[in-house]
Amino acid sequence: MIIDVLDNSFFVVRDDLYPFIGGGNKGRKLSKIGDYVKKNNYNAIVTTGGIQSNHCRAAAIFAAQNNMECTLVLHGDEKRFHAENGNAKLMRLSGSRIVFTEAKGISDAMDAAVVDYYAKDLNPYYLRGGGHTLEGAMAYVDAVKDLFEITDTRPDYIFLPTGTGSTQAGIMAGLDLMGSDCKVVGISVGRERNSAEKHVTNLYCELRNHLYLTNGKNSALVLDDYLCGGYEKSNEEINDISEKSLSNYGFVLDTTYTAKAFYGMMEYVRKKSLKGHIFFWHTGGILNFLAKSKN
Ligand SMILES: *Cc1c(COP(=O)(O)O)cnc(C)c1O
Repeated sequence: MIIDVLDNSFFVVRDDLYPFIGGGNKGRKLSKIGDYVKKNNYNAIVTTGGIQSNHCRAAAIFAAQNNMECTLVLHGDEKRFHAENGNAKLMRLSGSRIVFTEAKGISDAMDAAVVDYYAKDLNPYYLRGGGHTLEGAMAYVDAVKDLFEITDTRPDYIFLPTGTGSTQAGIMAGLDLMGSDCKVVGISVGRERNSAEKHVTNLYCELRNHLYLTNGKNSALVLDDYLCGGYEKSNEEINDISEKSLSNYGFVLDTTYTAKAFYGMMEYVRKKSLKGHIFFWHTGGILNFLAKSKN
C-alpha cells in the first residue's frame, strides 16, 4: 500500500496502484472474493455490471487467471461496449461469456447463466454486482489494518467515492477494529443520500457481527451534494480536476468516481473548515478515464 502526501495537507491512499490488472478497489475486492471462491471450490463465476464496470473487469480477469468460466451479464449500450476501450476492452478480450440485457432482466439472465453452468457440471459462484459482498468489504477491513501498519499518521477523516457502499462499510468496520474514531465521508457517485447510507449501513452491521465488534457503532455518512444528476454525470469543476489531475498531482482522477469524490472532498473541507489528518482513498478509475477517445 502506498500513501502520497499532497501539499502537506492531504494524504492519498493509492489503491489505484493495487497490484491487479487495472488496479483499484475492484481489484482489491476481487483478490479477497477470489480467495473465497477458490477455498469453496467454485469453478465458474456469474456476475453483473455496466459496460465500463471495474467490477466486471476484475471478475473477468480473475476468472482468466484461474482458468475459470465466467459469465458477465452487462446492461447498457452494447454498441458502446464494442467501441470503447478501458474496462470494456479487457472484458472483451478476457474470454468471459458476455450477455447483454435490459436492467430489469439482470437477475433472470444471471439465474439462467447459473443453470447453464450446473448443466455443464460446474459449480458457479453467484457474485453480486460491484463485489458488494461480505468478502468484498472484508478486503477493506484488511486494508485499514495495512494502513495503520505502514504509517503512524492516524486519519481524522477519510473521503472516498461511494457506489454500492462495500468499500465504505469495510473501511468503517476496519477503523472500529483499530479503535479509531476517524470519520468516514462517502461522496455518492450515483445514489441519493438515503439509499446510499442504507446500503453502507446494512453491510457495516453485517461486518460488525462477523467481526464481533462491540465498541461504538458509527453511522454512515454519504453526501449526495456532488452527484451532478447521477452516475457518470459531472460538472465543469469535476471535468477540470480530472483533466489536470496528472499534471497537478501526479495521479489520474476520472470523472465517474475519483474526480467527483475529490471535488466533493475539497468543497466539504472548505465549507466545514475541517482540520486534522485528511485522507483521500483513491479507489482507481484509470480505465474509466481511458475508456473513450476524445470526440
Ligand atoms: C466501484 C467503484 C467505487 C465505489 O465502490 P463501492 O464499494 O461500490 O462503493 C469507487 N471508485 C471506483 C473507481 C470504483 O470502480
